[in-house]
Amino acid sequence: MLYPTDYADARERFRELASRADFSLESYAHPTKKGPGGETLACDVARFGPMDAKRVILISSGAHGVEGFCGSGCQAELLASDLMEGLPRDTAIVLVHAVNPYGFAWLRRTNEDNIDLNRNCVDHSLEYPNPGYDEIHDWLVPKDWDGKARAEADASIEAYIAKRGLRAFQIAMSGGQYNHPDGLFYGGKAAAWSNTTWRTLLRKHCAGAEQVYGIDIHTGLGPRAVGEAICVTNETEHLKAKALFGEEVTWTGGGEAVSAQVGGSLLHAAHDELGAGKLTMIALEYGTYSIPETLEALRAETWLVARGGPQSEQASKIKQALKDAFFIDEHDWKQAVTARFFDLFRKLKGSLS
Ligand SMILES: [Zn+2]
Repeated sequence: MLYPTDYADARERFRELASRADFSLESYAHPTKKGPGGETLACDVARFGPMDAKRVILISSGAHGVEGFCGSGCQAELLASDLMEGLPRDTAIVLVHAVNPYGFAWLRRTNEDNIDLNRNCVDHSLEYPNPGYDEIHDWLVPKDWDGKARAEADASIEAYIAKRGLRAFQIAMSGGQYNHPDGLFYGGKAAAWSNTTWRTLLRKHCAGAEQVYGIDIHTGLGPRAVGEAICVTNETEHLKAKALFGEEVTWTGGGEAVSAQVGGSLLHAAHDELGAGKLTMIALEYGTYSIPETLEALRAETWLVARGGPQSEQASKIKQALKDAFFIDEHDWKQAVTARFFDLFRKLKGSLS
């Protein structure tokens, strides 16, 4: 199967398969950062179809860095398949590879500044939302990852959940926070490079179309290998998404989706850029492990960068655990992930013709 071993491998494979499939390629190289092997970090865009196409299918990967192992694999499998044959003439395909190349290459869910891009696309001139993260930050990212400090932190989290409920804890933790640059789900203080790059490439590739249909690929939430199609905006888009991708599309606003409702995601940015009514886009969220398991990996890696440092003895173990939490490198998982992605692509294609 065409799932990558690391970012450099992913990028090379994506570009090669795209060229072979007659896609045109362009790259948005990161202005300051390089990969672990000194390689260029870039968001690559492959396009097939006329620049003035009335309809655009947009498929993006790697917004959450390390989740790009899955998204890049799906894009590679699509490029190597015959699924794109028979698309209507007025329809172009735009594949955006590694929206957050730094996180992909360095095994982070966040970007080079620990920013969660799906919390970064807010209006930074307005007051930031604060669903209660300040209170739990020190517990989520304790002084030490082992021993007394960690045990005390975990006990505090348990007590918080016992008193206020798991849902309140999840909202406080993952709703997006703007006060702790070394914490979890940090939204940043200004638009990140990936955010502005995303907006630039959308203006170039999608703004001229009448309709844009999108899938943004993620991992880490939901049952193992299940790919939940989620609408993250409003009821109108949810209805359109169901008509295109199937009745099973969930909506964060309806409370039935595997992910909580957050503002400031890249999908919200896409709506800002393309204007109301043009875009119908889902987040495709593939399950890996349980929430406690994924959260453990996420906290550990955040602790490593904030407090432990890359030279600490736990570093390689913690990095590997993060990758494993967001990408199950087993044949049956990858097979199910590809099949689900193909299934959604076929439904979309069927809706367009
Ligand atoms: Zn994600």
